[in-house]
Amino acid sequence: MAIPFVDLQRQYRENKAAIDRQIREVLDSSGYILGPKVEELERELAEFAGVRHAVGVSSGTDALLIALMALELKPGDEVITSPFTFVASAEVIALLSGVPVFVDVEPDTYNINSEQIERRITPRTRAIMPVDLFGQCADYGRIGAIARRHGLAVIEDAAQSFGAEQEGRKACSFGDIGCTSFYPSKPLGCYGDGGMAFTGDEEIAALLRSLRMHGEGRDRYENVRIGICGRLDAIQAAVLLGKLPALPGEIERRQRVAARYTESLSELVPTPTVRPGNLSVWAQYCIRVKNRRAVQERLKRAGIPTCVFYPRPLHLQKAFAHLGYGEGDFPVAEEVSRDILSLPMHPYLDEETQDFIISHLKAALESEAAKSTQAQR
Ligand SMILES: *Cc1c(COP(=O)(O)O)cnc(C)c1O
Repeated sequence: MAIPFVDLQRQYRENKAAIDRQIREVLDSSGYILGPKVEELERELAEFAGVRHAVGVSSGTDALLIALMALELKPGDEVITSPFTFVASAEVIALLSGVPVFVDVEPDTYNINSEQIERRITPRTRAIMPVDLFGQCADYGRIGAIARRHGLAVIEDAAQSFGAEQEGRKACSFGDIGCTSFYPSKPLGCYGDGGMAFTGDEEIAALLRSLRMHGEGRDRYENVRIGICGRLDAIQAAVLLGKLPALPGEIERRQRVAARYTESLSELVPTPTVRPGNLSVWAQYCIRVKNRRAVQERLKRAGIPTCVFYPRPLHLQKAFAHLGYGEGDFPVAEEVSRDILSLPMHPYLDEETQDFIISHLKAALESEAAKSTQAQR
C-alpha cells in the first residue's frame, strides 16, 4: 500500500457525514457562487482567526492579488518579500507591474529575516509581504514595528499557516490584510481552489469585496473600479464548513506527528525550529539532507513519498530574470533550496506508518553517510 504524502482520503472518510451534508445543502439550494454558505464561512473563519472581516475568494493567489489592488499598488512600486516561497507571493506583485524586492530568509525558520528588511526600504516601497512558511508565522512583532516606522502596509501571505499562532494571536490577523489558501493540501483545504482575505478595516473589507467581483459598486452591474473574477464558490465553502469543526483537533495531531519526527531525527539531521511564542500548523515538516536525490530515491523505493519545497529560490527563476538578481544574492535561500526535504505530514499519519518512514529514512541517511566517508578516504 502506497503511503500518501498528505492523506486527504482518510480526512474525507473521518469527516464524510458533515462534508456530504454541507455539499448537499448547496446542491439543493442551487446557489453556487458566493451566497449564504460563503457568508457563513466568512463569519466562522473571521471568528476563528480573530479578525473582523473575511472575504472569500477563488484562491490564495487571488487573495494576495486583490490585497495589493486594495493598496492601489502602482507600476514601479516595491513590495518586500521572501525569495524562498511559492511563486505566487512575488508573482502577484509583478502582475500588477510592481517590483518584488527580496530579502533573504533566516537559516532556521526559513521565514524572511526581519533584521535585513529595513536596508531594502526605498522611497518606492509600499508594503512588506512576509510569508508564513511551512506553517509558522513570520516575525510579526519586528515586521509590524518596521512597517509602522516607515508607513508601509503589511500583507500576510498566510497560505500555509491558517490556524497557526504567535503570542496567542492567530495567523491572518497580523497584517493590514491577511491572505490564506484553501488549496486541497493546505492545513485547511477545500476540494478545488479557494482562498480568503482577512482585514480588521471596514473600508478595506468593502474594497476587497468589490475587487473580487469585477469592481462592482453598491448596485449589481454598477462598475466603479477594475477588479477580477475572484469569487469563492459555495461548494468549496461547504467543504470547508464541513471540515472546520475538525481543524483544532487536526492541529493538535500535527503537533504530535511533528514532535515524533523531531524526537527520532534531531540527532541525525537538522530538524525544524519553532520560535518561542509560535504554534506552527506544520503545513510541511522539512529536514535538511546532503545527497538529497539519493535519499529521496531510496525512500521512493520503499514506497515513501517526499517533496522539495522549494528547489529553486524565486530570484533565480527565469520568470523574475527582469529583476536582475543573480546567484549569491540570497545565500541562505540558495543553500536551503539545495538540501531541504519535506516528509509525509498530515494529521492522520499513524504511529506505525510514521515509524516505517523514520526507520527507512534513518537507513538511507546512514548509508549515504557511510558512502561519503568512504569517498573521503
Ligand atoms: C499555496 C500558496 C499560495 C497560493 O495559493 P493558491 O490557493 O494555490 O493560489 C501563495 N503563497 C504561498 C506561500 C503558498 O504556499
